[in-house]
Amino acid sequence: MSPKPTYRIAAIPGDGIGVDITSAAIQVLDTLATANGAFAFKYTTFDWSSKAYLERGWYMQPDWEAQLKKHDAIYFGAVGWPDVPDHISLWQMILPIRQRMNQYVNVRPTRILKGTHPPVAQLQQKPADLDWIIVRENSEGEYAGQGGTTHGHTAHATATEVAIFTYVGIERIMRFAFETAKARPRRKLTMVTKSNAQRHGMVLWDKVFYEVAKEYEGVVEYDKMLVDAMTVRMVNRPESMDTIVATNLHADILSDLAAALAGSIGIAPSSNLDPTRSCPSMFEPIHGSAPDIAGKGIANPVGAFWSAAEMVRWLGKGELDAVADQFMQAIENVTGNPETRTKDMGGSAGTKAVTEAVCREIERVC
Ligand code: ATP
Ligand code: MG
Repeated sequence: MSPKPTYRIAAIPGDGIGVDITSAAIQVLDTLATANGAFAFKYTTFDWSSKAYLERGWYMQPDWEAQLKKHDAIYFGAVGWPDVPDHISLWQMILPIRQRMNQYVNVRPTRILKGTHPPVAQLQQKPADLDWIIVRENSEGEYAGQGGTTHGHTAHATATEVAIFTYVGIERIMRFAFETAKARPRRKLTMVTKSNAQRHGMVLWDKVFYEVAKEYEGVVEYDKMLVDAMTVRMVNRPESMDTIVATNLHADILSDLAAALAGSIGIAPSSNLDPTRSCPSMFEPIHGSAPDIAGKGIANPVGAFWSAAEMVRWLGKGELDAVADQFMQAIENVTGNPETRTKDMGGSAGTKAVTEAVCREIERVC
């Protein structure tokens, strides 16, 4: 009998509610591993937070890349705190991890879980009308970090923020998006662009999309949307889309809209993937550190659990899909019960009560 696999997880709780939901996710993952019996998790916890940065002046040790690479996956809570400008935590930690760990795809599944209250009437009546996978380019584009400032602190200040689009970068994200669409029952891909106004990078984006599309002719149905019109279509005709591919900036914005349409930002998951599997991929809820509710024990851990389920799916390379589905079933059994919903979902349960309820469901379902 081969030894049971132990997945090494780098856990980065970060700041605020990131700390609460990461420990909740670890508790739930361990319950899943015990209930299933065929695999286990081993964690290394990294104290990379804004609080630590304020004390010692740095987020991550100089050898952070080598440390992360010793793991099979990274589980990330949230980073950011009011005393530290957001662009510092982003550029000292999140973006370097995404870029150096080759996580060039960010995947954000969105659907309406049982017990959520979507704000749009159509979705209240027919929640199944919203079932999307947003595929975000995660390595270049508008967040490439290129640009500069002159006369910085004067009334003559000038700043440039240069978006970088490369053929290689676009082609690999388009290929991933088409493959994602192809694996889903509806086989439908919507590409988002702004090539009517941005005439260089976005035109290349469109061109490469149509080139890759040729390989999927008759296999995946596809269309193109300008990002502004896309926001309207997401609200008015959610059923008309399935897989969506967009740039770093566009998908960042559209996926927050998607989370709001699905009922709460506390539910939505995200996966930062290195599809080549040469580096560990990173899983995190899309919400931030929510300083307003930090330390109160009321954060919704569902986005953290859904992200953990996506991590299990990724680690299993197809062999743990059924386990991840059961995990999701356990989560939905809990969100479906008004007694075990957090405040943002209209209930009064705390993080701990929801976590314990999910653990009990896992023991029952898995
Ligand atoms: P950051 O700068 O870290 O992204 P933020 O304040 O911009 O943080 P979020 O933390 O994503 O944004 O959340 C915005 C608001 O949504 C929070 O202030 C909080 O009230 C609510 N919220 C976010 N996540 C959750 C959650 N998991 N459970 C309950 N409420 C949440
Ligand atoms: Mg935020």
